[in-house]
Amino acid sequence: MKKIFNGICLIFLCVAAYSQSSSFQRRALLLSKSSQVENYYSIDNDGISIYASPILKKQNKPECKVYFDEIEQFQKLISTLPADKFKEIYKNKKTNRLSQLTLSSCELTKIQKSISFHAQKPLNGIRIAIDPGHLGGTQETAKIEGKFVSVIHENTLFELIEGNLTLATALILKDSLTKLGAEVLLTRSNYGHSVFGKTFEQWLAQDLMRHLNASLKKGTISIKKYSSLLMEKDKNVIFHHFFRDLEMIERAKKINQFRPDITLIIHFNIDEINWNQYHKKIPHYPLSSHNYNMAFVGGSFLPEELSSEESRIAFLRFLITDDLDNSILLSNCFIQACEQYLKNETFKDQQPLAYIQKYSLPTSAPGVFARNLLMTRLVRGTVCYGETLYQDNWQELHLLSQKPIVMNKLAINQRLVEVAQSYLHGVLEYVRLKFNSPSFSSQSQL
Ligand SMILES: [Zn+2]
Repeated sequence: MKKIFNGICLIFLCVAAYSQSSSFQRRALLLSKSSQVENYYSIDNDGISIYASPILKKQNKPECKVYFDEIEQFQKLISTLPADKFKEIYKNKKTNRLSQLTLSSCELTKIQKSISFHAQKPLNGIRIAIDPGHLGGTQETAKIEGKFVSVIHENTLFELIEGNLTLATALILKDSLTKLGAEVLLTRSNYGHSVFGKTFEQWLAQDLMRHLNASLKKGTISIKKYSSLLMEKDKNVIFHHFFRDLEMIERAKKINQFRPDITLIIHFNIDEINWNQYHKKIPHYPLSSHNYNMAFVGGSFLPEELSSEESRIAFLRFLITDDLDNSILLSNCFIQACEQYLKNETFKDQQPLAYIQKYSLPTSAPGVFARNLLMTRLVRGTVCYGETLYQDNWQELHLLSQKPIVMNKLAINQRLVEVAQSYLHGVLEYVRLKFNSPSFSSQSQL
């Protein structure tokens, strides 16, 4: 009898291990843009291993192995500890089991949410981070960023600064989310300001040296790059080769410290053909007849991207947590709200786009793609990176250029209100599905 019982237990454990490993295999597919990514990880009968290089995989020398019975603890560690603290654990683990010391020295208990939803405040207790993409501000900064759209249509000049559109949308959205009970963090709140609370010009004059020295000390830039940036006079080079990533890493850090339930990263798109023209420094963009909405979540790693330890840690996080599943659900709710409030099409391969074909993978949700962008990789938890509208589409250009009305100290352009509504209703639907909050049907919250 005992033998039969033991046999049943063994079968049960085998089935449980198989179903656990198949759900990791499913996630791994969305994380791998190429089959060569397999050279950096393995999913075996007893756990998941991450390798620092293909050679080390061949030698069966994982830099970190997480056993299936450690997954739950590891999920908590990877989701709650500051990045540098988790990195230490990752580095020291190798194939050892998590020590009692590691477990007890870390605050493992997730903050228990005390959410009391009610119809008027369906977002009570929900923490939402909003990242308005780019800096905006002046035309000069927008041109350095490569986020300035200039079009001549019917003898009229139209000019758009993406970083200003994203911030205007974020401010409208913050107002609406706050009214519905959410606690909202913005990574930047002033036109032209970065996450450092100042313009790029101010940063150049006041902080460049300090950040260069700190990056050299941390080992995030080489001595060769440090020396060349020290001598560099071209602001464009400093922006694209140092400031841009440094600033985005800081945005992600600020968001992760806030521990949001939801992160919304706001961008406005442009036709890729026109974007390529921009690099030829043409003075004005041609108009586009295309106009789609899409959203990105993490994943779709290229093998060469896994040569960095930071990327491998993110890869492991995506494998063992439900961050990707939740992000796809949120982004799907957002894309559906876009169809309702923006009324333009969801992107479903209507035109060939290199950034989709070379770097992205389709998810189960139409218009939602896995893509290993710095922000989709570094921001932990549930993330929707929205790319709405083509700014160079002639209809959008007209709508986005309409003079805003000032209301409650907010500059409100009707098209941006509709974009903010899409994010808002995407969030409401996600929260309803995820936290079982009461449905919220008011159309006039903005
Ligand atoms: Zn953008």
